[in-house]
Amino acid sequence: MVHEKSIAAFEAAKKVIPGGVDSPVRAFKSVGGTPMFIERGEGAYLVDIDGNRYIDFVQSWGPLIFGHCDADIENAVIESAKKGLSFGAPTTVETDLAEEIVDLFDSVDKVRFVSSGTEAVMSAIRLARGFTGRDDIIKFEGCYHGHSDSLLVQAGSGAATFGTPSSPGVPADLTKHTLLAKYNDLSSVEKCFHDAPESIACVIIEPIAGNMGLVPAQEAFLQGLRALCDKYGTLLIFDEVMSGFRASLKGAQGIYSVKPDIVTFGKVIGGGMPVGAFAAREEIMDKLSPDGPVYQAGTLSGNPVAMSAGLASLLKLKANPSLYTAMEQKATLLVEGLKSAAAANGIPLQIEVRGSMFGFFFNDHEVHNFDDALKSDTERFAKFHRGMLEEGVYFACSQFETGFISTVMTEEMIFSVIDKAQKVMKEIA
Ligand SMILES: *Cc1c(COP(=O)(O)O)cnc(C)c1O
Repeated sequence: MVHEKSIAAFEAAKKVIPGGVDSPVRAFKSVGGTPMFIERGEGAYLVDIDGNRYIDFVQSWGPLIFGHCDADIENAVIESAKKGLSFGAPTTVETDLAEEIVDLFDSVDKVRFVSSGTEAVMSAIRLARGFTGRDDIIKFEGCYHGHSDSLLVQAGSGAATFGTPSSPGVPADLTKHTLLAKYNDLSSVEKCFHDAPESIACVIIEPIAGNMGLVPAQEAFLQGLRALCDKYGTLLIFDEVMSGFRASLKGAQGIYSVKPDIVTFGKVIGGGMPVGAFAAREEIMDKLSPDGPVYQAGTLSGNPVAMSAGLASLLKLKANPSLYTAMEQKATLLVEGLKSAAAANGIPLQIEVRGSMFGFFFNDHEVHNFDDALKSDTERFAKFHRGMLEEGVYFACSQFETGFISTVMTEEMIFSVIDKAQKVMKEIA
């Protein structure tokens, strides 16, 4: 494959955009090489500016469940755009999309739309703090909830449960209210509650973690979280920005018996346009301005073009829930194929599937939390990534990301990817 034009485009971009990208993972730092610059998408494929074609398992990091250029979503966007791009005043399509979400989720009476997952989570946490009148929050190592200040934390030293900033620019004063616990480890959460029994506003979790690779929570662990939250008067927030409408039509809530108090959405909910949302029962949502005192706002929130794209994709998904079974079968076919290709060359691979989400770790042991994930062989992953890319297969450019199946991927495509993986696994053994 020739990458001349992408290499030149990256050099030009780096002169005027930090690192040449508008979101750091796109720079390919953890796998090396130059990111391809995209010319267009075509169903299951991406085409770069050098004319190379790749089957796309990244799907814009999740949103494109129908692949690129779905005709229904495209038409919805075009029709909406013809009427004007933004009004900063209510439109009925916001209500239409909210009604579809309320109809799907037992835990939800009302929805507020924003423009990104980061904004959705940041607002949900403010709402939880406003509702409970408490300041502290519990999050889990390895879960990502966007880049707002109080969520950019890493484990502090020693036995301390409170986190320290994971980025310069975040004052320690803003992370001292964030307690860190270990995924799938209830005792670590009990310890946080023990340290601060009266002051925890919310526990926030990706119920199917997709940002340390794919690591689903165990049912008993989520049940334990629910019980602890009920005992201490704390709200449970499911961050379903990635898993919502991905792991199943109802996200994690279609798979586990546990219901959250607040849920956040993003990615698929915008059908490829910038949309986020947070939602809860009425008693909680009514605390939000203008009805209640908790302030939250957005110039482009509920943007009609973005809402139209989201509504078109949600209606398509609701009309055909068996799509999830089909995607799960393809995801399983893919990771099992990768696993046997690896095994044939003596390479251990841990695999996981939830609906249209899949993950694989170059790891000797099962992965249940961030510490386990970090023991993966990232160098081997980087070689695998590069090898597959040269074969026209685009997996996310980090061991700690999730892969996505779209409805337009066929079994033949998956089989051809497995063929290529057999070749690449041999090269990296
Ligand atoms: C992607 C993601 C976010 C952040 O969403 P942005 O739209 O990138 O701001 C938050 N939480 C989870 C679980 C995500 O996967």
